[in-house]
Amino acid sequence: MHFRTRAIHVGQPPDPQTGAVVPPIHLAATYVQPAVGQWGPYDYSRSGNPTRKVFETTLADLESGSGALAFSSGMAAIHAVMMLLEPGDHVLASWDLYGGTYRLLQRILSRQGIQATFAPSDDLERFAQAVRPNTRLIWIETPGNPLLTITDIAACAELAHRHGALLGVDSTFATPVLTRPLELGADIVMHSATKYLGGHSDVLGGVLAVRDPELLERLWTIQNATGGVMAPLEAFLCSRGLKTLELRVREQCGTALVLARRLAEHPRVRRVYYPGLPSHPGHPIACRQMQGGFGAMISFELDGSPEQAKQFVQATRIIQLAVSLGAVESLIELPAFMSHASYEPAQRAARGITDTLVRLSVGLEHPDDLWDDLAQALQKAFDGSRA
Ligand code: PLP
Repeated sequence: MHFRTRAIHVGQPPDPQTGAVVPPIHLAATYVQPAVGQWGPYDYSRSGNPTRKVFETTLADLESGSGALAFSSGMAAIHAVMMLLEPGDHVLASWDLYGGTYRLLQRILSRQGIQATFAPSDDLERFAQAVRPNTRLIWIETPGNPLLTITDIAACAELAHRHGALLGVDSTFATPVLTRPLELGADIVMHSATKYLGGHSDVLGGVLAVRDPELLERLWTIQNATGGVMAPLEAFLCSRGLKTLELRVREQCGTALVLARRLAEHPRVRRVYYPGLPSHPGHPIACRQMQGGFGAMISFELDGSPEQAKQFVQATRIIQLAVSLGAVESLIELPAFMSHASYEPAQRAARGITDTLVRLSVGLEHPDDLWDDLAQALQKAFDGSRA
């Protein structure tokens, strides 16, 4: 079956009791047991919930995993992966990384004796040099956030396994429509379901999918013990989001390519970071690794001052000034002041996250309306007048 058919049907049989074509939302916190010490398929909603199970089953299938686990947020999912580690273990992470993951590693897990190094995963030679004898996990994001760097997943899987480490991939920007890391050798794929999977800016969630059933069991034990599970209503919304995921993502990718090309020609734009442009250093790997599109995130460097960058992102009318991404509505932000504010200024500078870097999440609006909005905001920020 094709991806979008599976997204609609796998794990979603009609309700046996009523025939409802949409599985119901099970809000019960606890379940009657057959007898003392005997367990049915569900006993307590933290340990397992039928609505959550529907979402996990569909997602596991779409990611070619043996199973999936849904969490209360993307960060809860990443934290569960990090809980596989022991004090003294080392994590090697991409340095084009979501600010919250950086903060978790740098400020929270360091207190538990877990060491982390950040290195450019789009430069495999330099990345490999950062592996240590105690590296137990390699954590990459591709496309990276916010510079849209492309990391070769298969090469990183080989690197991790050669050193006895696991490879985890934050695939939030790519979605399983474009890239399926488990098929390329990764051990764990993670999504902030808040983004494309939910797709409508109305749910907070995270999910992990894995190939190895034993690893799934270890992660389930951590999830059940720590409790960061996805609630039933959120799981329902994520299942609904999956049904239109392919259509949304493909359309958003098409619009993003149009906008990236137009931005690259604008005199006030110094540089565009979009893996679909041949000028992007990761374009050849992206062509191999991403199927049918290059994502709907674009970052670009303005040729102006930080003040003009702020004026620009505040001047868009359709595109809203907000963090987050991956939804039907387009969002714009300045990473240095918003999504990546948790990096120390020196760390931002080292990574190339300047005060004039803009990140755009392309939604489902018409490409011409989005372009008109960007053009008028650029004109307002740079010439002080509305188009
Ligand atoms: N990974 C990426 C790439 C993200 O962009 C985000 C959130 O913006 C997260 C992880 C964290 O997800 P959540 O906000 O659902 O906890």
